[in-house]
Amino acid sequence: MRLGTEWNRRSFLGTLGMIAGSMMAPAKLFAAKAGAKVSGFGQSGNPYEELGVTTVINCEGTMTMLGGSILRPELEAVMAQAGRHFVSIPELEVAAGKRIREMLKLPEGYTALVTAGAAAAIQSGLAGILTGDNETFIKQLPDLTGLKSEVIIQKSHRNPFDHQLRTTGIKLIEIETRDELRQAISPRTAMMHFSNFANASGQIKVDEWVKLAKEYQIPCMNDAAADTPPVSHLWDYANMGYDLITFSGGKAMRGPQCAGLLIGRKDLVAYALLNNSPHEDTLGRSSKVGKEEVIGMVKALDLYLKEDHEALNNEWQGRLDLISRQITRVPGVSTSFFVPDIANHVPHMQITWDEAKISLTPKQVSQMLRESKPAIVMGGGEGKPGMAMNSFMLQPGEDRIVAAQLVRIFREHSA
Ligand SMILES: *Cc1c(COP(=O)(O)O)cnc(C)c1O
Repeated sequence: MRLGTEWNRRSFLGTLGMIAGSMMAPAKLFAAKAGAKVSGFGQSGNPYEELGVTTVINCEGTMTMLGGSILRPELEAVMAQAGRHFVSIPELEVAAGKRIREMLKLPEGYTALVTAGAAAAIQSGLAGILTGDNETFIKQLPDLTGLKSEVIIQKSHRNPFDHQLRTTGIKLIEIETRDELRQAISPRTAMMHFSNFANASGQIKVDEWVKLAKEYQIPCMNDAAADTPPVSHLWDYANMGYDLITFSGGKAMRGPQCAGLLIGRKDLVAYALLNNSPHEDTLGRSSKVGKEEVIGMVKALDLYLKEDHEALNNEWQGRLDLISRQITRVPGVSTSFFVPDIANHVPHMQITWDEAKISLTPKQVSQMLRESKPAIVMGGGEGKPGMAMNSFMLQPGEDRIVAAQLVRIFREHSA
């Protein structure tokens, strides 16, 4: 679908209708066999090692820097099915949004868009608010001539992902108090942005922020990228009245790494899609989301919603308990547990030791784990002493390996 001179809404919809009408082709004819035999690159079963890149045991969680999450086999299978056919991507996007709306029981007037990640959802969502369905404006971004040009954000909510807001050309207006917010609102205000993980640090909390936005009739976005579990967050903020909400698909939901969700008001979600790939001459053209990711995101939600979340939580805690039991046998080592209130709301364990008994800094332990075989990635205690880890991205059996390596390192450096 080309956003060229001939592009307009009617031709866009007309093409969709034609495509929909011819969808009855015997698609099965083209279905290739799954589980193809691999020769050449990939034949070892670990293409990373074939490239000389060491795969790691992940004690840090759903970090994009480490590849996010690992797909469930059933999700892989459905994504492979998706890869065997051609479809109209805009038609697919709308249908996927409809299915997601049903699965999440979103409020009346809401739908969803699968994007290339939460970051892409932030960008496209704001772009849609700025441009509506005006083709000239869509092509013109990030030139804001004739458009609103400011987004209001609490100072403590600034974070690296607001770069995605700034790519549209807007200026961020930082405020701290309610009074400052009221003074900052002007005809230039396009949107009010909320960073969900920063809820505790701002003076205006998540529920009040959206009420204030409604009072001034300003569209309001909540970036909740890493904020499942709990699963209810997927609909809570829509129910609260946020116009747009973003989630990462490849974090705890274990969807495709290059997928995310923009949940929101139907009109705004439609405008976001017009600002996104596959439409050309758009800001979002660089955030392409493929058919496999769109289908994969729907399937990931299907699986995630059916999951026994309490059982999962117990399993994650059980892995930490196993590691704790083994490493605390080394004199001087102790552990404690915590769950972040929001974002990565899963069991974490802090590991500390008496440096008089074990002469190692957290940085050294981290380095030694990284160099152990298999390599283990575990960071410092995030502002707390010692090391911190979580277990929700560990694969079966890896808890034992982590425990054994930590015990070895601590014993080797015990006085
Ligand atoms: C991870 C994250 C994002 C980006 O999500 P992607 O799906 O990787 O694009 C945005 N905001 C916050 C707060 C995040 O944690």
